[in-house]
Amino acid sequence: MKTEGRPTSPVAANANLPQTVSGSKALDQATSLIFETGTPRRTGVDLPEPKGRKSRLGSHAREGEIGLPGLSEPETMRHYVRLSQKNYAIDLGVYPLGSCTMKHNPRLNEKVARMPGFADVHPLQPVQTAQGALEVLSVLSHWLMTLCNMPAVALTPKAGAHGELCGMMAIRARLDKDGQSHKRRVLVPESAHGTNPATAVQCGFSVDEIPANDKGRVDMDALRTKLEGLGADSDIAGIMLTNPNTCGLFENDIIEIAELIHAAGGYFYCDGANFNALVGRVRPGDLGVDAMHINLHKTFSTPHGGGGPGSGPTVLSDALKDHAPVPYVVAGKDGFDLVEHADENSFGRMCAFHGNMGMYTRALSYMMSHGSDGLKQATEDAVLNANYIQASLSDVMTPAFGGTCMHEALFDDRFLKDTGVETLDFAKAMIDEGYHPMTMYFPLVVHGAMLIEPTESESKGELDRFILSMRSLAQRAKAGEVESFKQAPVYAPKRRLDETQAARKPVLRWTPPSETAEAAE
Ligand SMILES: *Cc1c(COP(=O)(O)O)cnc(C)c1O
Repeated sequence: MKTEGRPTSPVAANANLPQTVSGSKALDQATSLIFETGTPRRTGVDLPEPKGRKSRLGSHAREGEIGLPGLSEPETMRHYVRLSQKNYAIDLGVYPLGSCTMKHNPRLNEKVARMPGFADVHPLQPVQTAQGALEVLSVLSHWLMTLCNMPAVALTPKAGAHGELCGMMAIRARLDKDGQSHKRRVLVPESAHGTNPATAVQCGFSVDEIPANDKGRVDMDALRTKLEGLGADSDIAGIMLTNPNTCGLFENDIIEIAELIHAAGGYFYCDGANFNALVGRVRPGDLGVDAMHINLHKTFSTPHGGGGPGSGPTVLSDALKDHAPVPYVVAGKDGFDLVEHADENSFGRMCAFHGNMGMYTRALSYMMSHGSDGLKQATEDAVLNANYIQASLSDVMTPAFGGTCMHEALFDDRFLKDTGVETLDFAKAMIDEGYHPMTMYFPLVVHGAMLIEPTESESKGELDRFILSMRSLAQRAKAGEVESFKQAPVYAPKRRLDETQAARKPVLRWTPPSETAEAAE
């Protein structure tokens, strides 16, 4: 068996621990590529030759082997179970990735999503045969509109960024309808998630950046100056603002921001990816928001980071609701129906069918099992947990801004000054401690940013263990243990990767070793 190229643990080497012949380390099983384990002629199934089969390929029939690796069933099981155990997962430990809301996905949601009437529903089924599924869409819409105090919601967008596109297309449709097509400037705070300016540009708007102040919020003086003297006929199409913002802070001046934008004849797009810090406490409609996407895969659990698809329903204000995309569900006296064709106001259609059904059932299951009191408590616990982390680390790490935070705690790298340890090294050392690192170097407005979002899923015991690890790392950095940080991670199956090369020149295809290479070995 070939062993070169397989990562060996430097810890084992350094500590003079014996190397195993198998390459495994107890429960950490050595894993080869499937192409190295399998062979083309092996198979896990034994099927009879189909009777009466005639090939219609003629001269196009394949003559050689296809070259895919064949494995027996137990080999297949082991291969994928071993691979799965090399991954970090929310079901394995704290996943404090700020901005991403990696929270527990209650198993009840999975059970509901797998019910045949939901899981097997076909988008082309006659509506009379899918009344239950349409009711889910209708009830979910009701709760999203209620939680936001907004009169309409477009369910079809399939992710947060897709929801942004939906909201901005509704704004553009409204502007064009009103003969305001010269309004093409969108204000975006410099701390915004990258999807905001990208969406604005995708919709044909130009992006005008608003600076942040030293409190991590929109610089109101800069905003007022920008909008000063502009009437409703200005070139301002709107603003895209995240609340709580990407620094984990509530935008205290949000009502004035909405008023200023409306006075300039623009619309207020709110990036609602952080709605999990507001549910049950604040209704965006009360703040003057015209459009906001909700990441069902963040706020309302649904597997996030677990490889599941997303869903980005977008709530719309009175001013925008007529421009919503099709299809949408309507309730009539004979049951539920779908509006499939756009009238002259709707901006059209965002996807072929009705969006991600599995995400709707999971989100509704999450809402109904929590109840309104439970949703509010989840919000409060998420904010409490983040503040507990911020308060417990603020003497050894440096919070980026003063005061309390919302659902995530943001630190900068001042506490690492002169230690030689950088944010990246700190994050890599967290891997050895058994944690997925927090979000690093984002938001860009904070130097060496470390954004920690614990979510409400974590118990106090888990948070205390996490805090203990973080404190110990901060103290080790200050004690001059820079070399161990530069080495980290030492316990991970893969150590430091050349991330730039991996992104720019990914090796995505296995190529069989050539005869000459084999001969040379
Ligand atoms: C996650 C996120 C988005 C994008 O959502 P996707 O579902 O990944 O497209 C947009 N804005 C903010 C602030 C986010 O956190």
